Amino acid sequence: VVIGAGLVGLEMCEALRDRDMEVTLLHRGSLPMHRLGEDFGARIVEELETNQVRYLPETEATGFDRAADGSLGVHTGGSGVVEADIAVVAVGVDPDVALAAGAGIRIGETGAVATEPTMQTSLPGVYAAGDCCECLHRVTGKAAWLPLGDTANKQGRIAGTNIGGGSAVFPGVVGSSCFKVFGLAAASTGLTEKEAAGAGFEPASKTIRASSRPHYYPGAAKLWLRLVADIENGRLLGAQAVGYGGVVERVNLLAAAITGEMSVEELAFADFAYAPPFGGAWDPIHIAAQQLAK
Ligand SMILES: Cc1cc2nc3c(=O)[nH]c(=O)nc-3n(C[C@H](O)[C@H](O)[C@H](O)COP(=O)(O)OP(=O)(O)OC[C@H]3O[C@@H](n4cnc5c(N)ncnc54)[C@H](O)[C@@H]3O)c2cc1C
Repeated sequence: VVIGAGLVGLEMCEALRDRDMEVTLLHRGSLPMHRLGEDFGARIVEELETNQVRYLPETEATGFDRAADGSLGVHTGGSGVVEADIAVVAVGVDPDVALAAGAGIRIGETGAVATEPTMQTSLPGVYAAGDCCECLHRVTGKAAWLPLGDTANKQGRIAGTNIGGGSAVFPGVVGSSCFKVFGLAAASTGLTEKEAAGAGFEPASKTIRASSRPHYYPGAAKLWLRLVADIENGRLLGAQAVGYGGVVERVNLLAAAITGEMSVEELAFADFAYAPPFGGAWDPIHIAAQQLAK
């Protein structure tokens, strides 16, 4: 039994199925990765079920017991007791700030350690990096807590440079992440439409179904791409994608476009390298940007 349909829970489902284990995934919400939207969440459920994972939505784990024969029971609200040999709890993390808070270091509104762009905390000579601390979100301009391995690496490099007598600043993040579950890749960068509205933008979005390569070319794979932009000036605010090929590289490119504050009008005719083994003359990004620009 895997508890929690976030990215770690989904990756665990794949890892356990690869070992031929029967896997049940419990999730207290209706769809996995709710941030990606219901349509993309439904594609993830489809991929789970295609790979024989039993998906139990609206099912919160409430406790465990072990029977005399050694079997494990996972108690749930809604689906009774689910029997298991192993239970994997993948229900998310909180920043562990006890050490910093105890030292009087400022904790930000996100609940994580607040730092300067140099990664120095409010206590001179004490630096923080990684999952315990927040960072600047370049789209909202506000502090965010997005605990990810690549961010931790970069923040560690910046902190180390400054501690070692050099001078470096961490430029912040645009909120990019990715994962895969069986054959389906998922990635996102920037803000979702809902987050953009919450951050004070007037967003619009467009979702397209496309192909990673021209349909006539071997290996063409389906993908779905959603772009989010600011109605006021066309600025790209976010992108989310799922699919069976060409997902992460496109979202990474869009992360660079968000960092460069490009508009969907600029993206609609951006000069991407093109040859059929790699994509179409009109890339899914062009198509989505053109439709959103309308
Ligand atoms: C299963 C899994 C998969 C993941 N996959 C991805 C991925 O694909 N991409 C991605 O970007 N991120 C991924 N992450 C997140 C990523 O691992 C974290 O963001 C990253 O490891 C954070 O680095 P960190 O150095 O802040 O913390 P950690 O890697 O947790 O390291 C903190 C270290 O500090 C030690 N420590 C804690 N307290 C003390 C103390 N008081 N004294 C001394 N030592 C202490 C801990 O034991 C630990 O070794 C994944 C996480 C998990 C759990």
